[in-house]
Formats: sequence, structure tokens, C-alpha cells
Amino acid sequence: MPLGEFDLIARYFTRPARRALLGVGDDCALLAPTPGLQLAVSSDLLVEGRHFLSTVAPDALGHKSLAVNLSDLAACGASPLAFTLMMALPRADESFLQGFAEGLFALADAHGIELIGGDTTAGPLAIGITVLGELPPGQALRRDAARVGDELWVSHPPGGGLGDARLALEVFRDRVALDGAAFAAVRRAMERPQPRVALGTALRGVAHAAIDLSDGLSGDLGHILQRSGVGASLHWSSLPRSPVMCDQPLALQQTCLLGGGDDYELLFSAPPAMSDAVRRAAAAAGVAATRIGAVESEPGLRVRWADGSVTPWAQRGFDHFALAPT
Ligand code: ADP
Ligand code: MG
Repeated sequence: MPLGEFDLIARYFTRPARRALLGVGDDCALLAPTPGLQLAVSSDLLVEGRHFLSTVAPDALGHKSLAVNLSDLAACGASPLAFTLMMALPRADESFLQGFAEGLFALADAHGIELIGGDTTAGPLAIGITVLGELPPGQALRRDAARVGDELWVSHPPGGGLGDARLALEVFRDRVALDGAAFAAVRRAMERPQPRVALGTALRGVAHAAIDLSDGLSGDLGHILQRSGVGASLHWSSLPRSPVMCDQPLALQQTCLLGGGDDYELLFSAPPAMSDAVRRAAAAAGVAATRIGAVESEPGLRVRWADGSVTPWAQRGFDHFALAPT
């Protein structure tokens, strides 16, 4: 007997509600928000072939589906509360569901949040998640809050950097070859991004603007610049990079570091007087943060190269409806 819709939900996606007053199984979930806090809400949809490869391990997919959503909450400085899960599944494949649920709930447990509902249907594989978080009024880190004179910072793994996920994608596309250990390292960055939730909340009252890097550094920085009505320059030599990235040719490094994609690190601006506070926030969150540039009044994005020359750089990231991905 194939697994039915309600058995599937009961077996893989129903756990006792802890914080929620009512969880999976009724027409609505019920949550009691913390009095005086604001709700932060964010959704992401992942479609097979577009956001993930059909070969990805189910537990990695479960992890990443929630990670990309938590990353959005982190970019606003919100503390996560709960999430809902929308799934279109070609079939009720129990080994897929088992692995997916394991990856999903391991990350949910690591952040102390619970699944409170969703919707399940047959169809081409797609995963949608909505996360709910909360934060004190007026303290959200917004894209429109960068100020001229701010320094630009990016988070990254200690000893690591930006662009590894893009490098892994280039290997999957057969455009780049890496040896086994190097490929394993960058593949992990692509499949198991770590949402910077602790850093996001620690940056409340410290950073001005913030965004999470999902579509690439130049494009995502472009969103901050446009919304804030400012320009910026990036210092090429300051961009953090992993040992594997350091071994790549310059043009590929540029594609991965500036074009990038799927980093799920936080890019944020903060006034120079806050640089110690930024370092303390990063240390408390167990991540590295590196100063990579500055916010300027001159519109547009510029890159300052190692030889001191400066060139304009397109503020372009991945666009699903553009003719060619950048
Ligand atoms: P409705 O018909 O009211 O939309 P459903 O029959 O679709 O309700 O879902 C039954 C219950 O299971 C609801 O509480 C819903 O939130 C929950 N649910 C459905 N799919 C999922 C899922 N993938 N993960 C978690 N909960 C789910
Ligand atoms: Mg339904």
C-alpha cells in the first residue's frame, strides 16, 4: 500500500507542539507571540533543477530548504520561532521523506524552532517554507538603512570565505575540475549552508543595513545600494576566500567571489565607530566577519584591485527571469 497524504504527514512531519499552542493537524496552527515584539515573516520556494540538483541527498535538501529561510530571518536580525512546509512530491518515496525530514528537523532543533503546519500535494518536486520570527520594534536590519561612511562587512566561516558554493556549482556544470578533497569542501558549502542567525540578532543596534547573500555579492550589495540611495566600493584583496578558492585562477575567483550565489552569509553595513562591536558580535556568534569595503555617496559599485586601480562593477546577481545568469 503506498503511503497516503495524511499518513505521510503524520509519519514524517508531525511532532508534539512545544511552543505552539496548536501545531500540525488542525485547520490552523496557533502561536502566542511574545508581547511587545514584532513578527518577521519570510518565504522561499525551491524547485528541482532550478534551486537544487536532482542528485542532491535528501537530508541535504531538508537542511538547505530550511537554511535558506532562516538566513532571511538572520538578515533582518529576527529570532526564529516556527515554520510551515509546502511540498509538491512526484511520489511518496519513504527513503526520500525519511532523509529529508532528518535534515530538516536537525537544523530546526539546532535553532529551537518547530514545524507548525503546511500543505502536501503530488506534483513536480518543489519545497516551500515560510518562517516566522520576532524582534523588538524598530530594530529590524533593513536593506534601506546603509549610510555614506559606513563600512561594509561580510560574515564567513573562520578560515573560509565567499564563493565556495558557486565553485561547487561550476564543478557540477563541468566547467571546473577539482580534486576529491577540494570538491568535498566546496560541495559542503553548497549543500549545507549555515544560516547566521546568532550573528543577525547580535547585530541589532550595531549594524545599519543587512542582507543575506543568496544571489551573489555584487547583486545583493546592489539591492542595499539601490534601496539606500548610495554607492560603494569593494576591496578585492579583502574579500575572504577559502584555501580552495585561493588556488583558483583570477577570473574564476572573480566569478565566484563577486558573482557568487548560494553563500548565505550576511553582508552588512556599520558605522566605523561600531567596528569593535561588530567583531564582538561575530565572536559571540562563532563566525568570522571581515571588512570588505565602504559605503560612498558616489552612486554605483566599484572594485578596488590589489594594484590600487578602481573599476566600475555591475550590480548584478542571479535573476530567474533574465536571459543569462551572471
Ligand atoms: P487543509 O485541508 O485544511 O488544507 P490539510 O489536509 O492540507 O489541511 O493538512 C492537514 C494538516 O497537516 C494541517 O494542519 C496542515 O497544516 C498539516 N500539513 C500538511 N502538509 C504538511 C507538511 N508538509 N508539513 C507539516 N504539516 C503539514
Ligand atoms: Mg491542504
